[in-house]
Amino acid sequence: MELQVTNSPFNQEQVELLNRLIPTLTDGQRLWLGGYIAAFQAGAVAAAPTGLVGLNGQNATGAAATVSAPAVSREVTVLYGSQTGNSIGLSKKLAKKLEEQGLQVTLSSMGDFKPNGLKKIENLLIVVSTHGEGEPPDNAISFHEFLNSKRAPKLEGLRYSILALGDTSYEFFCQTGKDFDKRLQELGATALVPRVDCDVDFDEPAAEWMNDVLASLSSTPVAGGTVTSEAVTAAVSSGESEFNRTNPFKAEVLENLNLNGRGSDRETRHIELSLEGSNLDYEPGDSLGVFPENHPRLVDELIAAMGWNADERVTINKNGDQLSVYEALLRHYEITAVTKPVVEQLAKLSPESGLAALLADDAAFRNVMNSSDLLDLVQDYSLKGIAATPFLAVLRKIPARLYSIASSSKAFPDEVHLTVRTVRYAARGRERYGVCSVHLAERIEAGDTLPVYIQHNPNFKLPENPDTPIIMVGPGTGVAPFRAFLGEREEIGAEGKTWLFYGDQHFSTDFLYQTEWQRWLKDGVLTKMDVAFSRDTEQKVYVQHRMLEHSKELYQWIQEGASIYICGDEKKMAHDVHAALISILQQEGGLSPEQAVDYMTRLQQEKRYQRDVY
Ligand code: NAP
Repeated sequence: MELQVTNSPFNQEQVELLNRLIPTLTDGQRLWLGGYIAAFQAGAVAAAPTGLVGLNGQNATGAAATVSAPAVSREVTVLYGSQTGNSIGLSKKLAKKLEEQGLQVTLSSMGDFKPNGLKKIENLLIVVSTHGEGEPPDNAISFHEFLNSKRAPKLEGLRYSILALGDTSYEFFCQTGKDFDKRLQELGATALVPRVDCDVDFDEPAAEWMNDVLASLSSTPVAGGTVTSEAVTAAVSSGESEFNRTNPFKAEVLENLNLNGRGSDRETRHIELSLEGSNLDYEPGDSLGVFPENHPRLVDELIAAMGWNADERVTINKNGDQLSVYEALLRHYEITAVTKPVVEQLAKLSPESGLAALLADDAAFRNVMNSSDLLDLVQDYSLKGIAATPFLAVLRKIPARLYSIASSSKAFPDEVHLTVRTVRYAARGRERYGVCSVHLAERIEAGDTLPVYIQHNPNFKLPENPDTPIIMVGPGTGVAPFRAFLGEREEIGAEGKTWLFYGDQHFSTDFLYQTEWQRWLKDGVLTKMDVAFSRDTEQKVYVQHRMLEHSKELYQWIQEGASIYICGDEKKMAHDVHAALISILQQEGGLSPEQAVDYMTRLQQEKRYQRDVY
């Protein structure tokens, strides 16, 4: 309802000002303003000479003196659920900003958080990603389960907000964030500011959400003083490099080799990059983000299918930077994944195309999303005719690809190594290329540069105690971080036992880094190695079969306190290896199936079972 002189206590000038301002406010700003006025009023009353406040509680101007909102705690709990480290990074940033506002912050992984304490919390901020097919990340699983169980308490006193991270090219976009939001509401909690769902390019929406959260918390009258949390200050690292995801470092390529032998069906690039001058640092278990370029052939085909002029200039961002259509499609925009927001926008640009009907049919849309790239969409829905400028404006910025780092920075100072499998396949009569892997395999050579950044991953870290035994399971390129683990353990002279389970298709052509493992075995850095070459025998042999063959000894290592690490394919391998570990616990430890599952959960909580899988 619009404010008027007749329906409000304001004069014409005030009404006009308010009517101009109010529609421009975000939810968070409105909340903040409400609280600010309440606090202002309370402050004005408190500051007013007592004589001016009448017996009926009215001050000299006639306004009520008791409008302030109830004082709430200035303590804020920030919980993150993170698989690749983005949520952790954002949570630390948020914690720092909250502290700067004088709030007392408790920052914790959901995995470390004791859910019984939830009842005592007044302000809860959640930053959580979604993993796989709409599942919570590993360190959010137990908290997610608890909240959705009957044991979850009523949370009427809780105010919360959620920043959900996801990728619109997946069907269950930001599902975990949505789950938490729904459940917290069911339990009676109140949203401080609405949940924000972020696509892969999350910086801007995340910053806006943080501002709204800060505004709404600072608008609340304070109960008690402010305390600074040392834990958080310590967690926010200082002396960081100026290079990050939004300002990547141009790393020079030092080496680009194919690790597979002649005759292999597979191609795996070992890439060495220089980090010299970047001040970037990493630990074993961290990942490297690489910004790739699209395949020039696909760009040419898309331009031809749309009938665009490749040299036409288009504006690519809010700063007004311009590129040619060709350059923009090559370097700036994503043209492979088909996401719902993009199709929705294209449907508006081409109402006759049939895209609106596709969007209305969930199953058909899912099928298109899982099997088509932008060129397929253009051809199947006759999108020719949309001009380059509006078409490109709806596309996502090309996201970086994350690769588990395959080197120890202690062993290779100022370098970072990657192990990248080249993805190529044919579909619907056309060659398809993994965007980054094919860029690296076909169009990058020593001397070129690549825009990169370090993605820290505290969820995949060597045990602090170098004497702790480690069991590493990494078939295919999943072995990459274990080259970093062993390089690190060699450099620091760690005494702990190490056991690697590795597999690929053929011994003779696909044994990645064979000579390095052999040297480490000889030197004792690697205590044991078991391999499973799946296509050298009639029956397929996988890493989990080798684990089951050695179940007694493996159980023994776990009893001795070994930490278990899995890296590689999430969809099948990681589930099968998990199932093998459960069988080993039952078989060797005499546990029931439920006890074995609980045991694995405990290992996970104790950070003795860590996975880097996707
Ligand atoms: P891959 O396709 O996983 O193949 C490696 C070996 O695993 C092959 O011998 C394969 O056998 C076998 N395998 C197939 N199904 C399996 C199962 N259910 N259980 C155990 N082993 C199984 O190798 P890749 O091409 O290097 O792919 C690795 C995967 O890991 C990719 O999905 C990649 O994205 C992911 N990855 C993730 C990370 C990470 O999360 N940080 C790092 C590196 C790689 P057959 O082919 O004979 O069936």
